[in-house]
Amino acid sequence: MALTDSCGSGADAPPGERITRFAPSPTGLLHLGHAHSALFAARLAAAGPGGRFLVRIEDIDAGRCRPEYEAAILEDLAWLGLTWETPVRRQSGHMDHYAAALDRLRAAGLLYPCFCTRKDIQAEIAASPSAPHGPDGPLYPGTCRALDPADVADRLAAGAPHALRLDMAAALARVGGPLSWHDAAAGPQAARPALFGDVVLARKDIPTSYHLAVTLDDAAQGITLVTRGRDLFEATHVHRLLQALLTLPTPAYHHHGLLTDEAGRRLAKRDNARALRTLRESGVSPAEARALAGHPDAF
Ligand code: GLU
Repeated sequence: MALTDSCGSGADAPPGERITRFAPSPTGLLHLGHAHSALFAARLAAAGPGGRFLVRIEDIDAGRCRPEYEAAILEDLAWLGLTWETPVRRQSGHMDHYAAALDRLRAAGLLYPCFCTRKDIQAEIAASPSAPHGPDGPLYPGTCRALDPADVADRLAAGAPHALRLDMAAALARVGGPLSWHDAAAGPQAARPALFGDVVLARKDIPTSYHLAVTLDDAAQGITLVTRGRDLFEATHVHRLLQALLTLPTPAYHHHGLLTDEAGRRLAKRDNARALRTLRESGVSPAEARALAGHPDAF
């Protein structure tokens, strides 16, 4: 098992109370990569005066999340030796909070309904081979941004399924100036949300999105230092924009390296051999699991 970079100490997090969180989605069992991330957040909280460590269950996707995974996650974290504040926040209990933020963005003229299917979008992108790409793939070509308002009203009245997208150009104009954030590992960052184009803030099947829920929850829980894997680094550009649009505080960030297997591949939930549950059942101790997860010191 290897780490893609050193962890750093998070020493340049803001002074004062340091509140960190580990925010798993209960769509599978935790593996050593999650253990690394959870221990990373807990250690940074423990390192600061008045530090607090929170666990948040990110269960907006009712189709993929399972209560049995949530129970297993909390049990495995406790087995690792972690403690956290209760009650644990569950995103599924805060849909009204996300809806209120969407209402604010809509009232400001920054959202539009998108009726496109995945197929529609793929076809449109295939027809314009120079379509720009962002961190999540080709950018949405903006088809529904240009729809006639009367047509939109008719489709909405008929109950046509739709996502809600942020009008990125309008959002950037609204903010008016450059935005930045600080990453303890990578240093000062200029926020570049335009990389994502008209990002989805509420899905067709789920009335929010990862970006919106995570940004609102980090603010609601007073998180001062967001720690998470390097794979989510780019998402912070969008989160920083949402903070500006919704007048939320900006935490410090520390995107840590990812644990990889012998072949240099990052660990995945389907990789059962490295599930904490499997290790535990095969006789691995919590201290050994912590060491395998890149945290060999006593906790
Ligand atoms: N729920 C996300 C995941 O399991 C993590 C979100 C975050 O830390 O911002 O990958």
